[in-house]
Amino acid sequence: MLWTLWRHTVVKMSDLAAITYNLNRVRELVRAAADCRSQELQQAFPIPRLVAVSKTKPKECIIQAYKDGQQHFGENYVQELVDKASDPQLQQECSDVKFHFIGHLQKNKISKLLSVVEKLFVVETIDSEGLAQNLNDACERRGITERLNIMVQVNTSGESTKSGVPPESCGKLVQYIGERCPKLNFLGLMTIGAYEHDHEPNKDFIMLSDIRTKICNELNMKISAVELSMGMSADYEEAIQLGSSNVRVGSIIFGPRLPPPTSS
Ligand SMILES: *Cc1c(COP(=O)(O)O)cnc(C)c1O
Repeated sequence: MLWTLWRHTVVKMSDLAAITYNLNRVRELVRAAADCRSQELQQAFPIPRLVAVSKTKPKECIIQAYKDGQQHFGENYVQELVDKASDPQLQQECSDVKFHFIGHLQKNKISKLLSVVEKLFVVETIDSEGLAQNLNDACERRGITERLNIMVQVNTSGESTKSGVPPESCGKLVQYIGERCPKLNFLGLMTIGAYEHDHEPNKDFIMLSDIRTKICNELNMKISAVELSMGMSADYEEAIQLGSSNVRVGSIIFGPRLPPPTSS
């Protein structure tokens, strides 16, 4: 896999200094966007969580960001997340790092992912009952004591290429997880959405927020008990204003990425 190439990329000091600068700037903008929200949202989610998406970036970038106070990191590929989470230097220098798995999860990779469960904060991409059940059962087999946080990924844009449960099936999946997956803790809803937006405001963000309202009514949950994970480098400020409590920001912190690895 191409990842081995990235792992050996030499990291220049100037890149690391840029991370510190970028991170501080993004944090400021997260705070400013959060202050523009409705009173209700400000109370429910005082400070949106910034997830620094470190996929394809070497561990030195994570270590630098962690030193700058960043705790949550997002990764798309199981092997890469496991390599980083089990790296001795990273474990030593980032003792309380928390990873978010934000890529498509294949059932045959679940046990690999759970090998670093103590570093895993959440799996954001549960999109079927089968996947939820498989993950739950694997947690049970491992005998994990704390429930594993998960989010339900919703295909808000309706593109056939996107993963995610269709909006109309979202409530049913959340209910299924609550009733049948005792090892999983439902944290909220996640969407990637369409990349190009001609229209403001972003339709995917509004839809995810509306879905939350609907399932909270149906399943008798509080809005504050259901997070929204939406917004990336191009649109995290807008996402926060529309209710995101978890933004996944990569390239404006760590710099542009090479194309994603093609799995062999
Ligand atoms: C890569 C990725 C991100 C970060 O994207 P940027 O545009 O670099 O901020 C966020 N979410 C998911 C699911 C991703 O795959």
